[in-house]
Parts: sequence; C-alpha cells; structure tokens
Amino acid sequence: AGLLPFEHEPYFNYADPQVAQAQREAFAQVREKYVGKTFPMIIGGKAVTSADTHDVLNPADTDEVVWRFSNASAAQRDEAIASAKAAFEDWRFSDPMQRASILKRAATLLQQRRMEFIAVMTLENGKNWAEADGEVAESVDHFEVFARETLKWAAGKPVYPMPDEHVTMTYEPLGVVACINPWNFPSAIPLGMALGAIAAGNTVIWKPASDTPLSSYLMVELLFEAGLPRNVIQFLTSADNDVLGDPLVDHPDVRMIAFTGSKAIGCRIYERAAKVQPGQRWLKRVIAEMGGKDPTIVCADTDLDVAARDIVASTFGYQGQKCSACSRVIAEDSIHDELLSKVVDLTEKLQIGLPEDNAPIGPVIHERAAEGILKYIENGKKTAKLVTGGQRAEVNGKKGGYIQPTIFADVKPTDPLFQEEIFGPVLAFTRARDWQHAIELANDSEYGLTAAFYSRDSHKISEARRLIHVGNLYINRKCTGALSGTHAFGGYGMSGTNAKVGGPDYLFWFMQTKTTAQKY
Ligand code: GLU
Repeated sequence: AGLLPFEHEPYFNYADPQVAQAQREAFAQVREKYVGKTFPMIIGGKAVTSADTHDVLNPADTDEVVWRFSNASAAQRDEAIASAKAAFEDWRFSDPMQRASILKRAATLLQQRRMEFIAVMTLENGKNWAEADGEVAESVDHFEVFARETLKWAAGKPVYPMPDEHVTMTYEPLGVVACINPWNFPSAIPLGMALGAIAAGNTVIWKPASDTPLSSYLMVELLFEAGLPRNVIQFLTSADNDVLGDPLVDHPDVRMIAFTGSKAIGCRIYERAAKVQPGQRWLKRVIAEMGGKDPTIVCADTDLDVAARDIVASTFGYQGQKCSACSRVIAEDSIHDELLSKVVDLTEKLQIGLPEDNAPIGPVIHERAAEGILKYIENGKKTAKLVTGGQRAEVNGKKGGYIQPTIFADVKPTDPLFQEEIFGPVLAFTRARDWQHAIELANDSEYGLTAAFYSRDSHKISEARRLIHVGNLYINRKCTGALSGTHAFGGYGMSGTNAKVGGPDYLFWFMQTKTTAQKY
C-alpha cells in the first residue's frame, strides 16, 4: 500500500553528552514556552476556555504549578458530544488512504519534536528521560502502526464464495468514542485509544487525566497540524469527575467508551455503559484496560544476574506506576535467597532524585498516591519481612511523593502485598517449592496482565506458555515495555477486556461488520 517496511523508533542514547545536552535544552525551551500558561479545550474545532481552571503540578516539586487547564462545564461537555456526533457524519466516509496519510505525517512531526514531548511529560508526570523517551517513541510507533492498520482493515475480509452472489464483508465505524485516559502513560495510551477510534472512522472525545493534560493537548494539536479535521477530536479537560466521569459514560450519543485506568473505575464504566439510556439506539461498547499484579517467575536453572537486572528495571522503572510493572517475584526455593540478595543489591544502588535530572527513581504522581502506597508498606511490615526501603525519601528538600524502592520477602499468597495492585515502588518476594508451584502461585491472582518467566529448560518454558494466565507473557525478558505493532498489549481476568492495543485485531473493537450480498 505504498508504506515502507515498519521499524520501531529507536531510543535516544543519553550516554552521548550531545544528546543529553539537547535534552536539557529541550527542558529549558519547554519551561520558557509552556510553564505558567493556561491551555484551552478544543470543542467543535475551536479553542475554548472555562473560567474555572485546575493547576497541574510538577510531581517532583509540588509547590510548582507547571500549567493550568480548564474545568469543562456540563454545557461544554454536551456541546463537545454534539460536535463529535455531527463530525462523525463526514469522518465516517473519509478515505482510509487520507486517514493513513495523516497518521504518517503525524509520525514525522512527532519525530521532529520528541525531546519537547519528553520534557513536557517529565514535568507533569515525573518520568525520567529514559522512561519518557520510551513512551514518546511508542507514540511514534503507534502512528506508523495505525497507518498500516487503517489500510489493512479498509480492505475488508474474504468470505467463502457463492456461485450466484457477490458477497463482501466490510468494516464500518461506530460513532462517537469517549476515550478516558490515565496519567501514567499520558502520551502513548491516549494516543493508542484515540487512533484506534480515528483510524476506523470514528470521532473522539479525548479526556486526559487531570494530572497530565499537556502531553495530550500537544498530541491533539499535532494531529490537527498533520491534517486531521479539527472537529474529529474534541479535547475536554476537567479535574471534576462529576462533569467528565459518569455523565460522559452515560450520554446516549456516546457509542463506545475506551478506558485505561484502575480496576474500580473500569468496572464502574462497564456497568454504567450497560444501561440503555432514553434515546440511545445501540448497546454501548466498552474496552477497558485495568490493573495488574504482574509476577516474575524465576526457575533454578536460569541466569540469576539477568533475572535480577530485569526484575529491578520492571519493578522500579517509573516508580512501579505501570500496569505492566513486576510486583511479585516468585522464585524456586533453591535459588530464592541468592536471587533476593542480588535484587536487593541492585535496588539499593538506585539513586532517588529529580526526573528532570534523569534520576533512576523519582516521585510518585501525587501525595494521595504516596499515602496509599505507604499504607500498604506499613501494613506489610506486620505481615511480611521488610528487606529494603520502606520509607519516604528526601530529595533536595522538594515537596513530592518520594518513596524508597521497597522489597518485602516471605510474602504469603493471601497477603494484600501479593494480591492487590499497589501502583508504586513495592515488590513482594514469595518462595515456591518448585517451578510448577511457582506457576500456580503466579496464577493465584484476579489479574492477568503481564508475567515474566525465566528458565533455560524447553519443557518448563512450554509449560509456562501453556499455563500462565496472562495476556502478555514474556520468557527470559522483563514484563514491561510492550512495543506497538509487536507486543499487542492487554490482559486477562480483571485486567480488562483484552482489546490488545497495538495489535492486529485492535481496530476491530472500534468497528462494526457489514455483510453485503448482491445477486448477479
Ligand atoms: N504498555 C506498557 C508496558 O508494556 C504499560 C502500559 C500501562 O502501564 O498501562 O510497559
């Protein structure tokens, strides 16, 4: 279809002083250009503000208000939905080649501005450079992948022929898709859900998390710059869930909800969306990516140094605030203690500091989150053995949710540390009698998002492939860092609807299928 072969966007090499210097300059420019500003919403293609705004704080120093965004009114929300509904009547018939070209142009534009997007993300969600770079590179990949997926689905699918009928199976968009987004991946996750909708010919209500709206705002503007008609995305912000929470989900003109966030909110959306509202002419579709309690299973026959390195990266990267983060290590008895001591050694070397200085460990998103995590840690001290961490950390006198990377051992399968998603830098170690027992323990969870399994034995590996109940299983590699187009992402069980963003079936969720049979 005229598209070059796909390659994942390579990461920046910050070990190169010139690259690091360029990133520092990007921070200076972003501070100059954006800090202190108030940004609008986009409704019906126009920039719209509201008298009522909310502050976006730098998690690394919560005394710093980095920028401000509007709190939408109920009337603005309804206007945005009406505008998305009207825009759908054009966009649904748009040429897939046009849609793919816009995404290709957007990829190029984003490649040129990667460092700016990284700096913005760091300032609003506290990712260090490398974590933010991974995410912005994933966003470039999303553009490339979704451009290709657009054309693939536009071709329809073959059916078994009939001698006297011409039969086609084609895919049509659904309507207005409300995308409700998390703060932990403020670029790649909103973009993945919105592109699923747009590539399929739907229009979008894009609601960023109130902690991280600028990463989204800049991405929406970039899409418009690439040629997306300005009314295809309605960009709505608010810190008030009474305006952009339930009423958005309940609105009869919303055809579909795409959500990524907590299990509690995902379940709430799923339940509310099931109710047919007066005037509603469809059963709403919901896709939801929710939590994880992701295990790393380590067999006795593996390279423990590799496993330990990967465990530390996947547990403490971005302070453990990823659905995909490792939060349980289940190790065979014979190597448990040796593995634990290797993981603890590496963990204690991690520096806690400012994400803007690219410190390995930074703050959690806000004080409320810090308090929730510390509560788990305090309770854990009573039920398990604290091996390292376990307290707040101090960083240059800054106000922020800095928590030491924390590891508990002797964690029982019934312990909240083993069962509940903490979404912070807390790891539970549990001893297994043998590798089969380790797989059983790994599966003892309501979640099923990611898992990592370390062994060199082909029989154990094939049993792990067969038995581990997750949507993303990684053998001999860490459980974070799914790449768009390659590691279709989404889980089992209470991890969500398993829609598999970045995979070859993702667009299907945003479409309905038409069979047309024509008699000759
Ligand atoms: N896709 C990300 C990864 O593989 C995780 C996304 C999430 O935390 O929701 O690490």
